[in-house]
Amino acid sequence: MSRDHLIIVGAGMAGLCAAVEASAAGAKVIVLEKQAELGGSSLLSGCFMAFAETDFQKKLGIEDTTESLMEDFLAVGQYKNKRTLIEAYGKHQLATYNWLVEQDVQFQTCQAVSGHSNPRGHTIIPSQAIGQLRANAEANGVIIKTNAPVVRLVKNNEQVVGVVYEENGEQIELTTDYGVLLTAGGFSQSEELLAQFAPQLANTVRLGGAGNKGDGIKLAASAGAWLEDFTYLKGTYGFHPTSTNDKKRQAHTFYKGGIIVNELGKRFVNESISYKLLGDAALQQPNCRTYQVWDQTIMDKGVANDALYDFDLLYREGLIESFDTIEQLAEKAGLPVDVLQQTISTYNSDVKKGQDTAFGRTSLTHKFGTPTAIETAPFYIMDTATAMLATYAGVQVDEHTHVLNPFGEPIEGLYAAGEMVGGFHGAGYMTGSSLGKAAIFGRIAARTAIQAKKQEVLK
Ligand SMILES: Cc1cc2nc3c(=O)[nH]c(=O)nc-3n(C[C@H](O)[C@H](O)[C@H](O)COP(=O)(O)OP(=O)(O)OC[C@H]3O[C@@H](n4cnc5c(N)ncnc54)[C@H](O)[C@@H]3O)c2cc1C
Repeated sequence: MSRDHLIIVGAGMAGLCAAVEASAAGAKVIVLEKQAELGGSSLLSGCFMAFAETDFQKKLGIEDTTESLMEDFLAVGQYKNKRTLIEAYGKHQLATYNWLVEQDVQFQTCQAVSGHSNPRGHTIIPSQAIGQLRANAEANGVIIKTNAPVVRLVKNNEQVVGVVYEENGEQIELTTDYGVLLTAGGFSQSEELLAQFAPQLANTVRLGGAGNKGDGIKLAASAGAWLEDFTYLKGTYGFHPTSTNDKKRQAHTFYKGGIIVNELGKRFVNESISYKLLGDAALQQPNCRTYQVWDQTIMDKGVANDALYDFDLLYREGLIESFDTIEQLAEKAGLPVDVLQQTISTYNSDVKKGQDTAFGRTSLTHKFGTPTAIETAPFYIMDTATAMLATYAGVQVDEHTHVLNPFGEPIEGLYAAGEMVGGFHGAGYMTGSSLGKAAIFGRIAARTAIQAKKQEVLK
């Protein structure tokens, strides 16, 4: 193969958006994917993408602004996010939503989700989105190789000029005048890296793409990349402990009004904060055991076929149990009856007074919705764990997706986008921003690489 292909490493949302964008602009592209199947964590995802000012929102009568989306990112990230990355997201988010619609990615609903002050969780069907992006890329002539893990970068002095990948047991060197775009996802499936960077997450359920072992971060580090955000690694609260990649068993009743208690029958947190922060709090409870508890009023707010809110599905699967009284519920779950009754009674009276004296809960998600009392039988309970889904820490990049060295200088020929990049989320995570970020920065990376090539030709 000649040197005139942009090399993309990893075929999830970021890699495929980059491949479609670059090929539509006339570039030749080769995508190398480690697994037999494309999609990585994107394919397994809960399907929310964070966009504002969309036609979908307008149809539902939701008034929203890009500025408020950006402000939510910064507030949830506790202002530790890199502002330039948030601004780039803001600048390109609506165009990327419209671009995805043009690509025939089918958006289904728009939900209120964690961290957002407006309903902005635009849902996709991940298999439809990945399949469609793949088809569009291939229609543009993109070469996609599966079972082709990249194992090394090729360098010429400081510049990245290619990769070594494996195919049928052989190592093949592929060089490029375009540069290498790393979109190889995070390390939610690497026990080695999780033990090293996030030992506090040892008691989490492991989910995420089978190939997501931090290869992209290691490859970038081998070329001198600087890393960031590892101190902010968190799990995601809301999964039944029996969850697997095939059966994700997730319910966020707390964002519809449920409370969370520990095995002592006590609340321990404001349930409206990010599920990442809920995960931190849950992992500190005795034996890491926690339960969501809610009533019929909240159960009725379930949304069929939704990744977070399809409560009936988990009920039918026997993972959510119902009881006529709180006493029966506590007895069956092995929680102290008196304490749980007192917890709920205090919570209900606080809700009615409009002031959560224990933890300051004022909303259902970050700033959206009003809490309701838990008083209408039947009552429901779900044993709930924290899962490791995605890592959100990684290589340092600028807003154009150049990978940066420890001195903040771009490493020539190396770009990165998607989950393997740090700096975006800061100290907290907002739902839908990871898939959103993958699509937006995947497209930016494609344009940056093409632009760099053009400038090279002009020299
Ligand atoms: C259960 C679950 C639910 C989630 N829900 C949401 C949600 O609702 N909204 C949201 O925004 N985010 C969600 N996320 C997170 C989100 O899915 C990911 O962060 C995002 O999809 C990452 O996209 P990506 O393209 O960067 O990586 P991925 O989609 O993981 O793709 C990376 C690809 O690179 C490949 N790869 C790895 N190493 C190599 C190598 N050496 N050579 C070649 N290829 C390689 C992998 O096999 C993989 O296919 C969820 C994640 C999980 C697991």
